[in-house]
Amino acid sequence: MFICDCHCDTLTELYKKQIDLYENKQHIDVKRQLKLGGMLQFYAMFVPTPEYRYGGGLRYTMLLLDTYLQQMRKLKEQGIDILQVRTKEDAADVLNHQCASLLAIEEGGAIDGSLEALRCLYELGVRAMTLVWSNRNDIADGVNEECSGGGLTVFGRKVVAEMNRLGMLVDVSHMAPAGFWDVLETSSKPIIATHSDAKALCAHPRNLDDKQILAINENDGLIGITFAGQFLEEDYNNACIESVYKHIDHMLNLMGNDEHLGFGSDFDGISHPPYNIQGVQDYQPLIEYLATKYSDSTIKKITHQNVLNLLQKVL
Ligand SMILES: [Zn+2]
Repeated sequence: MFICDCHCDTLTELYKKQIDLYENKQHIDVKRQLKLGGMLQFYAMFVPTPEYRYGGGLRYTMLLLDTYLQQMRKLKEQGIDILQVRTKEDAADVLNHQCASLLAIEEGGAIDGSLEALRCLYELGVRAMTLVWSNRNDIADGVNEECSGGGLTVFGRKVVAEMNRLGMLVDVSHMAPAGFWDVLETSSKPIIATHSDAKALCAHPRNLDDKQILAINENDGLIGITFAGQFLEEDYNNACIESVYKHIDHMLNLMGNDEHLGFGSDFDGISHPPYNIQGVQDYQPLIEYLATKYSDSTIKKITHQNVLNLLQKVL
């Protein structure tokens, strides 16, 4: 079983605790990923807001970027066959490697209002960016600002166009609804919601309503089902494998196909994971459970093929 996971906050933990990606006590390490049968993991460089709202985001991003590059180097020195995905060719080659990584940004404040910085970060390997975290930045409003009705700014529209041109995934998770619809209208390529669940099942502002889910389906984009307990169940204590299945099933039924769904665990960024999904190792029982509900072909698509297909369309 090979799994693509579109979001985690592991880099922040590695940087703050000065620990290694190969083996640690966090939600994710490569040793457990290999035991599962390999993974393509998106590693987000999360810039905390509002600390960096008025500048400094780029410098902070460099600290996490260094952490990522040093960890990739260490893994290769240990003999781990890890592919860093940068191109369509890499995406086509992922399954021929033990594991793979894709460098991402969570919170567009990372570029400090500069398209030049965005282009340099692309050169350094960044291939996906969550445009805004839950607050406000100079690109758009996050879900906590929904009452203001703010969508994509003029600068935000330029950012989306430049990301389209470069070949970067535009991520709308955390974005307030007005911005979500602006991105759909602005982006020339399929978009992604790396870590969001269904609002129809759990009315959290971070979740997507049915109209948004259908719009991503129509856009040929992808939604990464996430494991944050508060997004899965009204009472996060009840969140479990069955809850993840219910969100998947809702989206599959709504979309009427199985081509636009994947995973975005948010491991190492969630304080209330489901009680029987306590880390990356628990993809095993989750997929085993899903395999009792869906065909092999659907399992293959939602575990990895849909994400790899999206990368073919965008990179
Ligand atoms: Zn997040």
